[in-house]
Amino acid sequence: RPEKKPSKNQRVKVWCRVRPTAYFDTEHLELVPDGKSVNVHQKKESAKGVVNNQILDWSFRLDGIFHNASQDHVFDTVAADIVTSALDGYNGTMMCYGQTGAGKTFTITGATESYKQRGILPQGQYHSCSERLRKDLNILSLSDFNLIRIFLIFRVSYLEIYNESMVDLLATLPEAINQENGGSMSVAENQYGVYVKGLSCHLTQNEEEALNYLFEGETNRAIAAHSLNAQSSRSHCIFTLYIETRSRVQSNARYTVSKLNFVDLAGSERLSKTKSDGKTQQEAMYINKSLTFLEQVIVALADRRREHIPFRQSKLTHCLKDSIGGNCNTLLIANIWGEKQQLEESVSTLRFATRMMCV
Ligand code: ADP
Ligand code: MG
Repeated sequence: RPEKKPSKNQRVKVWCRVRPTAYFDTEHLELVPDGKSVNVHQKKESAKGVVNNQILDWSFRLDGIFHNASQDHVFDTVAADIVTSALDGYNGTMMCYGQTGAGKTFTITGATESYKQRGILPQGQYHSCSERLRKDLNILSLSDFNLIRIFLIFRVSYLEIYNESMVDLLATLPEAINQENGGSMSVAENQYGVYVKGLSCHLTQNEEEALNYLFEGETNRAIAAHSLNAQSSRSHCIFTLYIETRSRVQSNARYTVSKLNFVDLAGSERLSKTKSDGKTQQEAMYINKSLTFLEQVIVALADRRREHIPFRQSKLTHCLKDSIGGNCNTLLIANIWGEKQQLEESVSTLRFATRMMCV
């Protein structure tokens, strides 16, 4: 039975991606040439609109910054290793955080109609499928008797969390397996880790099938948002790739099961209380809470003295319990705009991101 490698106790990797814009505001937002820091200079205006010359300065240090970076570059730099590691049995989670419109969905999913603009998720599917093929070939050429008996199985699921209730974005598909019908979905744990009861899992043989599940889920996400009269940016979405190594001879013997989560977080923007109705305020409350809990979990994970990690405070953190921190590879991409109008939100996004860093 192949053992998982010893704990690496990795901290969360935090990158920032600046959305390309024609009006990049270099006066207020300064990307330091070291490629790892963003400086923000903000003149604070008083209530009457009079500039009182008080300048607020921040400097945010991250693991790296993407500016005018291609989708391929983003994947190769921060995601490829996490995907490869998942094939070796390590769980991984990649998340995008930021205000609506800052490029979270673009980073994860990408412009699906254009191959060149594919995000880290479809690229990750491609990468894992081709790695599997490569591994198979390698194993055969090595003619290692034990390894020949092992093969990889991929499954996918696509979960949406809206106001703390869970929606299966692939529930309508007939090929669903492992589905426990009836009743509402809930987060549960077994010997392999955390799973969502009632969430359908779908076997995928190749990249094309995996992509189809992504498209299907995207469509259902849009439909669900429409019927709830909600914007899709008000929910968290978790696309999970399950990678299982099995014995070729004993078809039920599992060796390792790892999970790779792609998380498109709900928009982090603050809403003006006066402008939004009760429903919008309730959504905002749920989003704020779950993002705060996510932060608490990541901060707690980094503190070696902490024994209790508050995973169960929200559906999002509970679902990710066995896939963030510790032995798992965790990546947070903070998506921001470069425009002056969005400066305050960018500062708040960078603050959240760097709080994940310093721990
Ligand atoms: P979010 O999911 O954070 O609300 P989106 O990913 O939907 O934001 O991005 C908003 C719009 O900006 C989309 O039309 C998207 O295609 C575009 N966009 C975002 N980031 C980039 C980028 N790096 N390059 C090109 N277009 C982008
Ligand atoms: Mg989005």
